[in-house]
Amino acid sequence: MSPLDDPNTMRRHLLEWYARHRRHLPWRETADPYAIWVSEVMLQQTQVATAIPYYTDFIRRFPQPADLASADVQEVLKRWEGLGYYSRARNLHRAAGIVVSRFAGRVPDDPDAFRTLPGVGEYITAAVMSIAFNHMLAVVDGNVKRVLARLLEMDTPVNHSRAYKEFKKPAAQLICPQRPAAYNQALMELGALVCRPGKPTCDACPLTGLCLARRHGTATAYPRRLAAKKVPHRHLIVGIILKKDKLLVQRRPENGLLGGMWEFPAAPTNRKKETHQSVVDALAQRTGLTVQVERHLSDIRHAYTHFRLTAKVYLCRHRAGRVRIKEAGSHRWLKRRALDGLPLHKAARKCLDAASAEVEKKVDLNE
Ligand code: SF4
Repeated sequence: MSPLDDPNTMRRHLLEWYARHRRHLPWRETADPYAIWVSEVMLQQTQVATAIPYYTDFIRRFPQPADLASADVQEVLKRWEGLGYYSRARNLHRAAGIVVSRFAGRVPDDPDAFRTLPGVGEYITAAVMSIAFNHMLAVVDGNVKRVLARLLEMDTPVNHSRAYKEFKKPAAQLICPQRPAAYNQALMELGALVCRPGKPTCDACPLTGLCLARRHGTATAYPRRLAAKKVPHRHLIVGIILKKDKLLVQRRPENGLLGGMWEFPAAPTNRKKETHQSVVDALAQRTGLTVQVERHLSDIRHAYTHFRLTAKVYLCRHRAGRVRIKEAGSHRWLKRRALDGLPLHKAARKCLDAASAEVEKKVDLNE
């Protein structure tokens, strides 16, 4: 017998466990659909502990959709800095504008209407609409997939393109019709606290008597997963270019990876070893500037979802020329301190950290 044969027992055990063991998280202390929406967007790609201070800061600064809608997107990105996946912040900002203009500033409680907002997909719709308005929509995230895979011994790999559809079927059968909000959160919480990746703590699990994987001793064999593809490795030359006491920064185009975030001029390279001349040539091609390379500062590494990056960071001096950067949204020459007010993506922040001490020394010598 599986939980699908007796969903009521499973729901009862799960909800009783949740009432006793749930974590007290800031977004669980509110019934405001907008705050719940912000939290779900943040939590989509971010760990709970990381998300908490960002969420608290974001809601304090933008307590209502109207506050977010009227803010400059650059400020929104600045508050999102470090969380990554910046399209989430840009979409949330655009969506808040639509909530204000089309829904009188209130998050619509109609899933079809909510689903039309930028950045709102099936997961966010199910999560926000169930938690905020008790709509009977089952959530399927990584935690839920893992619990269901074990509970029902589901062989569909959780990273397969059809996984969402496959897991949605039992998720929709099991959801508690009377308490969808609590049920969805309980199932996600069980995945986060008990039915964890690696070794689940089945002895502490409220579903231990119902779980097929537990019964058959196969818990660690689930969830199934397709072998991860090898991600490509990109190499960049990054120029920290000083002109008197100012540094050149550029904004990435609005759409695309890290859209709207700021960074230092960079050029791809496939050379194992750079010479000062190759750095000068690469940066000239990228920026239109003639620079003098002062020194190699550091190699920084960063991992994105689809590729890994190694950036060779060089401190350079501007010698001649005007900036011409085709791909960038815009550029600025700014003092070191002013960079703290810009939304820099994580790799750019690492480059700045690698350069800061040296830049400050050079600027002092100039003064
Ligand atoms: Fe996961 Fe173990 Fe609970 Fe099954 S019994 S749902 S494997 S924690």
